[in-house]
Amino acid sequence: MERIVVLGAAESGAGAAVLAKKKGFDVFVSDMGKIKDKYKALLNSYDIQWEEGQHTEPFILNATEVIKSPGIPENAPMVMKLKQQGTPIISEIEFAGRYTNAKMICITGSNGKTTTTSLIYHILKEAGYNVGLAGNIGSSLALQVAEDNYDYYVIELSSFQLDNMYEFKADIAILMNITPDHLDRYDFKMQNYVDSKMRITQNQTEQDAFVFWNDDPIVAAELKKYNLKARLYPFSEYKELGSIGYIEDKEFVVEEPMPFNMEQEELALRGKHNLYNSLAAAITADIAGVSNEQIRKGLSDFAGVEHRLEKAGRVRGVDFINDSKATNVNACWYALESMTQPTVLILGGKDKGNDYSEIFDLVREKCIGLVFLGVDNTKLHAAFDSFGLPIVDVRSMKDCVDECYKMAKPGSCVLLSPCCASFDLFKNMEDRGEQFKECVKNL
Ligand code: ADP
Repeated sequence: MERIVVLGAAESGAGAAVLAKKKGFDVFVSDMGKIKDKYKALLNSYDIQWEEGQHTEPFILNATEVIKSPGIPENAPMVMKLKQQGTPIISEIEFAGRYTNAKMICITGSNGKTTTTSLIYHILKEAGYNVGLAGNIGSSLALQVAEDNYDYYVIELSSFQLDNMYEFKADIAILMNITPDHLDRYDFKMQNYVDSKMRITQNQTEQDAFVFWNDDPIVAAELKKYNLKARLYPFSEYKELGSIGYIEDKEFVVEEPMPFNMEQEELALRGKHNLYNSLAAAITADIAGVSNEQIRKGLSDFAGVEHRLEKAGRVRGVDFINDSKATNVNACWYALESMTQPTVLILGGKDKGNDYSEIFDLVREKCIGLVFLGVDNTKLHAAFDSFGLPIVDVRSMKDCVDECYKMAKPGSCVLLSPCCASFDLFKNMEDRGEQFKECVKNL
């Protein structure tokens, strides 16, 4: 019997193990860390063998194929050993894709993935499509393929997931943008990361569609290297050469495949970045055959996604905005760009090789103070000390919110958009956002 070994037993790994078991493979799951109780229960309910806190070589190296969690780096010792002996290593999405004929709508990019994925899912679901939500959000694609029977999947794909995808094909691929991120996982070489993102188009045929941001210089340069067969659907803020989605005279316009338009003012999501996300979602829904009326409805009644420019409350005239998900500099740029009030900006956390100069102009233009929330704020001080703004260092969310409140004036806002990962002081970006909201409530 062919043996599938799953490395990493969180959402994607546990789901992949269940699907593999259902398809009749001999399955073994191994996780170096602790496996959450809910995943243990899931594995046990399917009688799947697992181990935690170790990788037992003899149980792993005899695999026919290995499904690796996107969280495990390519240079992890066990992954290197498997590669050395030539064992194929794939992602959960690659594996799940083999067992479904559903239409795959796949979204990647450095920023905007979750918002665009959620928005597309919202439009399709409200329009009555039999659709599942997968990838980095919701339950794993593999588990849904094992237990449900959807006609469409809307899948958020990170570069790490794309790295181990080979035969998988997106019927509609969406590339929001490419800006530096996760370079620590790509030998600090931007091109490696870019190549990984471009894999969203691999295996696409004339029947497939590729939706992308037409103003992205990196994507534009990459497209010259590829001979893509898919139909192209470029979008941009204003009408320009090639774009089929844009804003013209305050009208939100999609030219193809079916002409669509609505008042820009009716869009539920605000800010320039969300205009791109809305354009990508509208074009995709249009390609999937959703009626104009339903697209209009979905774009105007979408409630937004937690931790993305989320209103966290107003205290004595000061607005607090939770953008904890802004874990890179470009995301913070868009958040700042959309601010209309004087802003106290919270920066800091685990730096991923950031270049802060990208936000210098916006900080000069919009910020009235900075609060650095992190264990090591040296790089932030080097970048911003010369600006002449009030700056405070803090190490807990409570102190952070208190200091921001002191700096802010009625009519201004406090923006948590930290440019960095959260792991130095918080469990994850959700924990950081939750604590922010809680501290705002207690002011
Ligand atoms: P991702 O899933 O790619 O991390 P999200 O939709 O969760 O993206 O948004 C993360 C952050 O990036 C948001 O808080 C926002 O500030 C910023 N952002 C959202 N959409 C875009 C976009 N299209 N371009 C640039 N930045 C964006």
